Amino acid sequence: MLTSANGWQVSLDKVGIVNYMVPNTKRHFSCRASVAPILINFAAEIHKLEPIDTGVFDDWGWQVRKVKAGRKYSNHASGTALDINATKHGWKATRSGYTKKQERIIDILCFDFGIRWGWRYKFGFKDPMHFEIIESKLQVKERIAAMKLSMPKEKTK
Ligand SMILES: [Zn+2]
Repeated sequence: MLTSANGWQVSLDKVGIVNYMVPNTKRHFSCRASVAPILINFAAEIHKLEPIDTGVFDDWGWQVRKVKAGRKYSNHASGTALDINATKHGWKATRSGYTKKQERIIDILCFDFGIRWGWRYKFGFKDPMHFEIIESKLQVKERIAAMKLSMPKEKTK
């Protein structure tokens, strides 16, 4: 099985990937259906800190790509990662682009949702736009149930 860095199955053909609306916004992300209650509801929490549906479209989910300067597939390729407000929180950035208070809240949200924030990468470049699933299928399933997270609405054409 082709997997991304976090161990989830890569989707080359978009099988298992769905485009979801972020609640209370006009933005949408494509991601793996089984992690959507986590990632999409997490994005809705970030929206409360900083609007995600203003300005240019700079929010991405599923995308087949390799880790920059690496051979492994990015977690975007398995539909288990989001880039949020990319233009404000650029890759290689020396600052996250969030205030210290926002950073603390994001850390807590990440802990609650079982997500790793690219800004907290210990090795290589920090990636403050980037959020990814770090748990297994079973852990994700249990977390969704424990947090009573609902499946977000699909984007209609
Ligand atoms: Zn990313």
